[in-house]
Order: sequence, then C-alpha cells, then structure tokens
Amino acid sequence: MKVEKADVVIIGAGNAALCAALAAKDAGANPVVLETAPQSERGGNTFFVAGSSRWVYNDIDDIQQVMDLTEEELRTVDFGTYTREDYLEDMGRLTQYRCDPDLTETLVDNSREALVWMKSKGVKFAPMYKGQSQKIDGRIKFFGGQICMFWGGGPELTAALFNAAEAHDIPIHYETTAVSLVTKGGAVSGVVVEQGGETREIQADAVVLASGGFQSNAEMRTRYLGPGYDLAKVRGTQHNNGGGITMALDIGAMPWGHWSGAHAVGWDMNAPPFGDRVVGDGFQKHSYIFSIMVNANGERFVDEGADFRNFTYAKYGHVVQQQPGMFAWQVFDAKVDELLRDEYRIRQVTKVTADSLEELAAKLDGVDADGFLRTVHEYNAAVRQDVPFNPVIKDGRGTDGLAVAKSNWANTIDTPPFQAYAVTCGLTFTFGGVRIDTDGGVIHRTGKRIPGLYAAGEMIGGLFYFNYPSGSGLVAGAVFGRIAGANAARHADNRRADPT
Ligand SMILES: Cc1cc2nc3c(=O)[nH]c(=O)nc-3n(C[C@H](O)[C@H](O)[C@H](O)COP(=O)(O)OP(=O)(O)OC[C@H]3O[C@@H](n4cnc5c(N)ncnc54)[C@H](O)[C@@H]3O)c2cc1C
Repeated sequence: MKVEKADVVIIGAGNAALCAALAAKDAGANPVVLETAPQSERGGNTFFVAGSSRWVYNDIDDIQQVMDLTEEELRTVDFGTYTREDYLEDMGRLTQYRCDPDLTETLVDNSREALVWMKSKGVKFAPMYKGQSQKIDGRIKFFGGQICMFWGGGPELTAALFNAAEAHDIPIHYETTAVSLVTKGGAVSGVVVEQGGETREIQADAVVLASGGFQSNAEMRTRYLGPGYDLAKVRGTQHNNGGGITMALDIGAMPWGHWSGAHAVGWDMNAPPFGDRVVGDGFQKHSYIFSIMVNANGERFVDEGADFRNFTYAKYGHVVQQQPGMFAWQVFDAKVDELLRDEYRIRQVTKVTADSLEELAAKLDGVDADGFLRTVHEYNAAVRQDVPFNPVIKDGRGTDGLAVAKSNWANTIDTPPFQAYAVTCGLTFTFGGVRIDTDGGVIHRTGKRIPGLYAAGEMIGGLFYFNYPSGSGLVAGAVFGRIAGANAARHADNRRADPT
C-alpha cells in the first residue's frame, strides 16, 4: 500500500516512535508510521529490552498509578522512594554533570506520567524483583531506585504498542526506509522513502524522527566511537544505522550530546553480531560485581564493585573493549554461585568450570595463566575479611593495597567449583544525536527550530554522557516520543489552518 501524503509522518516503529504516533493521534492527527524492517523484525531495539524502567515515585500511591499491586505485595514489600532529586542526582552523577539540564528535567518530571499514559494504552507494568531487591527479615527490600519493569520485557511491550497502534487505526508501512527529508522554505514538508525498490516522496505537514542511534552502522561506530568499535557486537536490532540522524544533520540540525559515547555492556564473547530475538538480552553478563574480571594478561583492570550494577554496567562494556583482544573473563567461585543472574544459566554461554585455580587458568582461552594465578593470589590476600559481605548495600567490603581496587562485595576466589564467563563489548545504543528542545522540536545549527521536524528516542543527544542509569532509555523514549508526537500534530494542524 502506498501513502502519498500524511499530516504527521513518524520514522521508525520502536517505543519512541509508537508513543509519538499514539500521542499524535490523541492530539487529533492521522499519523503514518514508516519502518525500515520487515514485519517479522519489527520493534527495533525495543523488542530486545529486559524492560527495566526508572521513574519518580514518592509514595505507594505514585507506585500504584503505574503498577497493580497485590495485598501481599503491599504488606511485604518495601519499595522505598525514588524522588525527583534522586533521579536528577543519578543523571548528573553518572553523566559527569554534562546532561542537558532542560532535557533531563523534562525526562524526570514527566517520567511517571508517561508510564501512566502508556498504561492507558494497554502497556502493562510489574514489580522488577530480580536483581533489584532482596528478602531481609521476611520483607522484600528494593535497592538502586528501580522497582518496575515493562511486563513481559521487549516482546510484550512491543506487542502492546503495536496492538495500541492498530486499535488507534495508525497505519504502519514495513520495509519502508526513510532516506532524506524534503524542505520547503526552511520547513520540513516531506520524506523521501525507499519502498519496494522504488524511491519516492511522501508529503507531510510534520515529521517525527524516532529511528534509533547509529550503533548498527560499523562505519559510523568507528568514525565516532573510535578504532575497534567496528568489531564490537550490537545487542539489539541491526536496523538502527543512524539514518534518521544523518537525514536531520543534512538539513542543518545541530549535533548534540556525547558523539563518542555509547551504552555498552559486557556481552558474551561468542554472541552473534546483532541481537538474537530468542535469546534477547541473555548474552549480557551482569553479575560481574561479585566476580573478578581479568584480561588477556590475567590482570584485573577495573573496580568490579565500584557501585551497584545499575550504575556501572552501561560503561563497563567500553572498559572491556579497551583490553587486549577486546575480551575479559568474569571469574566466580562457589560462594557466590547462587547470586548469579539468570543470564548465566542460558544454553548459549561461553563458560568454563574447574575444580582448582590451576585447572581454571589453563581453560581461560587467550589468558596468560601465570598472570591469572598471580592476580588471584594477590587479590585473595587483599580482601577485607573484617567487613561483612552484604549484596544489597554498598557493603564496603573491598580490597586493601591493590593497584586496581575492588570497593564493594569483594570475596576471596578460593572455593571450588570455579566458573568463568568470557565477555566482549556489546553496544546497546549510541549517545550522540540531534538537539531537540523540550517540545521535541529539532534545533537547527543556527539555534532556531527547524519547523515541522521533531525527534525522540535513542537518536536525540544530550541526555547521556559516559554512562547511563538503568531503565532510563524506554522512559526517555516514552516521555519525548509523547511530547514530539503531540507537538507534531499541533504543528500539522496549524499548517493546515495556514498553509502559507
Ligand atoms: C538488549 C537490550 C536491552 C535493553 N534493555 C533495556 C531496559 O531494560 N530498559 C530500558 O529502558 N532500555 C533498555 N534498552 C535500551 C532501549 O532498547 C532503547 O532505549 C529504546 O528501545 C530505544 O527506543 P527507540 O524507539 O529510540 O529505538 P528503537 O526501538 O530501536 O526503534 C527505532 C526503529 O527505527 C527503525 N529505523 C531505523 N532507521 C530507519 C529508517 N531510515 N527508516 C525507517 N525506519 C527506520 C528501526 O528499524 C527501529 O524499528 C535495551 C536495549 C537493548 C539492545
């Protein structure tokens, strides 16, 4: 089916795009969604998410606006609070205080409301107990500010969003790739698309770009993230090639944010080059806080226990990328086996086990065995045995006197069976993108808005630098997608009223 003209054209069909489409529809427009992927690969990175979400809640009433809790949960779970100040502080601290203050405030202040709105569209939420809470004295206590997940993870979130789009009569054109923007008198007036081998123009009163970052484009990765990133693995969709960003820059949009930065995690060494729709995020290996990580020299290279996983996992992929051969092994002993997350127990895992450290050393592919044994002995001798181990707080059980300290959750590696997992860098999404204002409007290099052009999701710059607080990507996509869609609809409406 060919579309020639629409009041609002949305580029992409992931979380941000579908939120934009639904919001545009709510605001009275008839949006059309263009998606480069075939229907069988729809959902973009959104399909691959675990589903964690980070948003502001001050009390149980706030929480119940988003999640339906049982009587038992109300009685036995301590959800704590995550205030506006907590979220702002986490964004500031993790981005080295570089995050754009206006965009960050918009994200934080609209975070809960965006989820309540998504719930009204059929998206479901549930408490995220795994990895975020612990039972203490009969009560479940959350730590780390993240209590909620999109129910069913990426597949269910994607299904709910597409169902909502269908229920709102929003057409989605698959295998339709936006290649450039058309302008008239400085305003965006359409999109050139490739569809079925044909290149043609779709006229539009407003366009929302929500087509993801450039992580799936090896050339752009290398150009912006640096040498070696052409070899990095991509955790999600192969379709986020930076096309939307390039299109916007081509008509003068201002580049914004951390162009040499990206969200990157420790990811199975033998994972495929792009995400696997069955394994999902199972290739991640996020219990490293209880491990020591060693490189090809058998040396530790990072403080595995610097902070909760929520606040380090998105930057440690880069640290692994910088190691010789771009890999590391996470090493655990039997004492922490029960703390390992589910992803360590999948079938598609690069794992070795051994009953002695010497046997393990010989099995760590690519690692200097003597160097590894030396590292373990030095590390074991440095662990502060006088401080009790407690996985739910930053317990301060660190190491003494090592060149690379471990600050929390340090345990000796001495109890067989030993197990080790090989990881490399897995890129999630890139941080550099286009500049938008708090209305979702794309800003021109001159500092003025480009009339008729809006953007949301991974492809906006300015929110994340160096690092990322877990659960912020989907919420940011929902917040800015919703804003962009509503304002695109208003713009289209004004344009129809005054076409000059
Ligand atoms: C393995 C994994 C786990 C994650 N877990 C979480 C999590 O638990 N919580 C969280 O908050 N975030 C998580 N994220 C991050 C999250 O996926 C993203 O922040 C979010 O989904 C991005 O949404 P988006 O709409 O911007 O992009 P996407 O969902 O990627 O959508 C972009 C769409 O644009 C399409 N497209 C690209 N170029 C074009 C073009 N030229 N023309 C037409 N269409 C185009 C793509 O095919 C794609 O469908 C995870 C990511 C991955 C990969």
